[in-house]
Amino acid sequence: MAVSKPDYDAVVIGAGFSGIRSLWELTQNGLTAKCFEAGSDVGGAWYWNRYPGARTDSEAWAYALNFAPEVVDQWKYSERYPSQQEVQGYIRRIAAHYDLLRHIQFDTHVVSARFSEKENLWTITDKTGKATTCRYFIPATGPLSIAKKPPFLGLDSYKGEVYQASSWPKQNVDIRGKRVAVIGTGATGVQIIPKVARVAKQVIVFQRTPNYVLPGRNYFIDDHEADEIKQKYDDTLKKASVHPFGLAMDFTGKTADKVTEEKDIRQTLDSGWETGGFHYMFETFDDLFTSAESNANASEYIRQKIRAIVRDPETAELLCPHYPFLSKRPPCGHFYYEAYNRPNVRLVDVSKRRIEMYEKGIRLTDGEEHEVDMIICALGYDAGIGALSEIDVRGLNNQSLGELWARKLQTFAGVLVPEFPNMFMVCGPHIPFGNMPVILDAQMDWIGKTIRHMEENKLGRIEVPEKTADSWGDHVEEAFQATLFSQSAKDVGAWFVGGNSPLFYFGGVANWASWLDKEKEATWSEMQFTQPRGKALNHL
Ligand code: NAP
Repeated sequence: MAVSKPDYDAVVIGAGFSGIRSLWELTQNGLTAKCFEAGSDVGGAWYWNRYPGARTDSEAWAYALNFAPEVVDQWKYSERYPSQQEVQGYIRRIAAHYDLLRHIQFDTHVVSARFSEKENLWTITDKTGKATTCRYFIPATGPLSIAKKPPFLGLDSYKGEVYQASSWPKQNVDIRGKRVAVIGTGATGVQIIPKVARVAKQVIVFQRTPNYVLPGRNYFIDDHEADEIKQKYDDTLKKASVHPFGLAMDFTGKTADKVTEEKDIRQTLDSGWETGGFHYMFETFDDLFTSAESNANASEYIRQKIRAIVRDPETAELLCPHYPFLSKRPPCGHFYYEAYNRPNVRLVDVSKRRIEMYEKGIRLTDGEEHEVDMIICALGYDAGIGALSEIDVRGLNNQSLGELWARKLQTFAGVLVPEFPNMFMVCGPHIPFGNMPVILDAQMDWIGKTIRHMEENKLGRIEVPEKTADSWGDHVEEAFQATLFSQSAKDVGAWFVGGNSPLFYFGGVANWASWLDKEKEATWSEMQFTQPRGKALNHL
């Protein structure tokens, strides 16, 4: 049987961090590659999320790529937590520096991807019906890219302005003097609320579940600090690559059994709180994820801070979470709790009543009405599997990926899926929960080496056996069960749990990487390879 020549060796979907990193890896390996991107520019999440206050929650020195020596030259962040504009600019600079923009076709919405068993080729089809064939299919669609649509009854009857944070308009949205409703108090809502409060006439925040919001303590990076960051660039990213969550942070050696004096516990938590952001999670008690005692102390500490910051006791109580810290991903705030001290900000509890809409604003199911000029929805995402389930991806025997995952989420280390040959996911489900740029660097490095192995040995197809994926799946579950929030995260509807199983790996970046490394070191012995003309090889 003659094998058709594909249009490209590889097709990448998405031009965010992971898509750009993928294009670099593929072109370095001498492959022809095409990238389809739904937006009109690079950036992915950082292209779409241009809402007021959008910035990273990871620190500028760790929210960076490290795949080639000159990448450091593209690092020019000016704040501890770079803004959306800066991050998008960074991604664009990287893409331009490595001449990757020419491989990207913007404004292109991919609707399906089908594998041909006879030819070992994928056919990627866009919304206009145009089909492109390739040997390697690299969905780099992001873990948080499909926003939840507002489910509110009566939405169509509402006459005011409605915005989704995740697809904020490019043109200026005039908020000045308006009565604004914000629905959602996750990391997105927490960034929007203090910004909007500065200019709106009134802000009404609709909160279903409170979050433990950590103070970001953002600042401008001056030339001296920028110099230091660049000098330490490699070391910082090396350190981040072995940190369980991909951050350049240190264990403190402190645990509940070692630090028992009230004043020492306080000092440890004060130190993390004052340093700001995720340092409260990772540089206070090393057992926050596993010790009920440490976690309870850290949770109570934040509740006390909320009560100290927010002047109105009733509002402060509503803002206090009562589930274990980390059951939801803690947002990084910039004067979030302080915003509730403004006379124009009001918190409305919707934990026991549903939001509906009417002509003039929001009506709760108990009849309470709030007249507003604008509604901002920050409702979160169909995380992990959403983007790939939305595209009609079909592997062997016309099997649908969305349907497979609806039954059981199966991957090997968040990269491969049984019965979906030659599909390499970047930042798909089952990757470690943590700082994405660091994780995807490692992931794409492994994918690059695997593809190189296939190219050098003329292997037409890679498949991961179901039992290998099952072992990984069991390990993902085991790592999640080892956290103290495995049940409470489900109870509070954390986005990193899908249905009943974890969408992400909580065993740490290094452990995850060891599964990939082991496979590479054993010359991919668990994988099944097939030569282009269908002759099966056990392994090389
Ligand atoms: P999220 O954490 O899932 O928060 C969504 C919010 O909307 C929650 O408060 C949720 O309430 C509420 N909500 C959803 N449906 C609702 C309904 N029908 N009625 C009332 N409230 C409703 O989503 P997110 O804020 O977009 O953040 C998701 C993740 O994206 C973050 O955890 C983070 O990893 C990432 N992110 C990162 C940054 C950054 O790095 N700077 C910024 C933004 C987002 P419940 O809690 O009750 O469900």
